[in-house]
Amino acid sequence: MELVFATNNSNKIEEIKKMIPSTIQLLSLEDIGCNVEIPETKSTIKGNAIQKVEFIKNNYGLNAFADDTGLEVTSLNGAPGVFSARYAGPQRNSKDNIKKLLKNLKSHSDRTAQFKTIIALHLNGKMTVFEGICKGKITNMEQGKYGFGYDPIFLPDGETLTFAEMSLAKKNIIGHRGKATNKLIKYLNQV
Ligand code: IMP
Repeated sequence: MELVFATNNSNKIEEIKKMIPSTIQLLSLEDIGCNVEIPETKSTIKGNAIQKVEFIKNNYGLNAFADDTGLEVTSLNGAPGVFSARYAGPQRNSKDNIKKLLKNLKSHSDRTAQFKTIIALHLNGKMTVFEGICKGKITNMEQGKYGFGYDPIFLPDGETLTFAEMSLAKKNIIGHRGKATNKLIKYLNQV
């Protein structure tokens, strides 16, 4: 079965390729000749995930899934949340985002946070949504060089290493996207 993963993030494609059954041929946006910026204009993580999948359905008529992730920090009332990618501005720069988050958290003692991933799947006319959550804390400084985005400042509960210090295999097991992906894969195995 062919299934489009509606993302331009090669890190995510690599992460998910390792988990998806070999019976599914994962197609990237490049594979289907989609080189436009898919709109992400909704006010929730779930809304954005569904919007991306509907774009592929409406423009290419293909089965697809899309994910949207946000980092929700308790003492910042859930920010950056749906604005995680552009927290420090439209340049979508991870270093700038981290810098801003650490600055905004300086005066707060509660550093609890969670990553939330929503995967929306459009398969043969039906839309299904899967959620994955990883709870943890924001560290005081960047630690580690692996991963991407906010990984260097996210310490998952029960761990001594940030996402940027642990292997991708480990991150896939305990991480938000891995959890949502496992639900997606379980579902795909049943249809
Ligand atoms: P997106 O919805 O996946 O595009 O992600 C929104 C923002 O969250 C981007 O700035 C990403 O860098 C960040 N982000 C998404 N997934 C992760 C992750 O697994 N670790 C760290 N940051 C992430």
